[in-house]
Amino acid sequence: MSKIIDGKKISLEIKNELKAKVEKMKEKPTLVVISVGDNPASKVYVGQKEKCANYIGINYQHMHFDSITDEELIKKINELNNNQKVNGIIVQLPLPDGMDEVKIVNTIDPKKDVDGLTYLNAGLLLNNKTSLVSCTPKGIMELLKRENIRVEGANVVVIGRSILVGKPMMNLLINANATVTLCHSKTKDLEKITRKADILIVAIGKKEFIKKEMVKRGSVIIDVGINRVDGKLYGDVDYNDVYKKVKKITPVPGGVGPMTVVMLMQNVCDAYETKK
Ligand code: NAP
Repeated sequence: MSKIIDGKKISLEIKNELKAKVEKMKEKPTLVVISVGDNPASKVYVGQKEKCANYIGINYQHMHFDSITDEELIKKINELNNNQKVNGIIVQLPLPDGMDEVKIVNTIDPKKDVDGLTYLNAGLLLNNKTSLVSCTPKGIMELLKRENIRVEGANVVVIGRSILVGKPMMNLLINANATVTLCHSKTKDLEKITRKADILIVAIGKKEFIKKEMVKRGSVIIDVGINRVDGKLYGDVDYNDVYKKVKKITPVPGGVGPMTVVMLMQNVCDAYETKK
């Protein structure tokens, strides 16, 4: 059996499942992506979302503003909140410096918050209630499920405590009965902790930071990191160094990344269905 967790293959399976589901829907779900400014990484991510939505048959609308005030953007979001035809809204982050991201994101109707970033959805997740969940951690849970990796009772170490990845990841794992340790830049003796992990999830944004000395033999490694150096992508885990020691590992690219986009589409379909 392959050691590699093939996120590309698994995400394609889910894309096809969603495509079949959407084909049966009377009306197609609609996703609106809002972007502001000219962040080059955002352009790439927006393009990936459009491609994936088109494949599945989700209506995709991109609203781009070279610049806009917080008040104007909030007004636009409120119009989309009130538009019955719109099922999912995302604001592409980061917004340009000076914009109030928290206020803007929290303007999105939580029922249309397909990035799972509003305070209400974060609170529902914390309380183990059904909610729209941040796409990357949701995609990781799906990868673990589809690879038959047991989470219940496992010692899982997550490195990184961002609102987008680390914290929702921790909550999803706790809700799935894992024992979770959340580490960050102030964690002492990180290696001592990571060596005990049955499942190690790394989301720090540092190229090949995790070496073989830091992982447990026979563990599962989920590498969230995307580090672009001289046009090439690297994970947060030194893949070649740890490969022999571990049981399973996600590659970069082709691991967690493709799952993130497809989970967004899953959230759009879920938002459409709960609206009915
Ligand atoms: P972030 O907001 O920058 O957070 C990074 C986290 O890593 C922080 O909690 C930070 O600790 C911690 N950290 C940094 N250096 C550390 C160290 N030496 N030891 C231990 N912890 C350390 O990042 P993010 O948004 O979660 O993203 C993390 C990485 O995942 C990035 O490479 C990003 O591009 C990638 N990403 C990938 C996807 C995907 O779909 N594959 C999605 C989202 C993000 P402090 O809190 O103490 O500062």
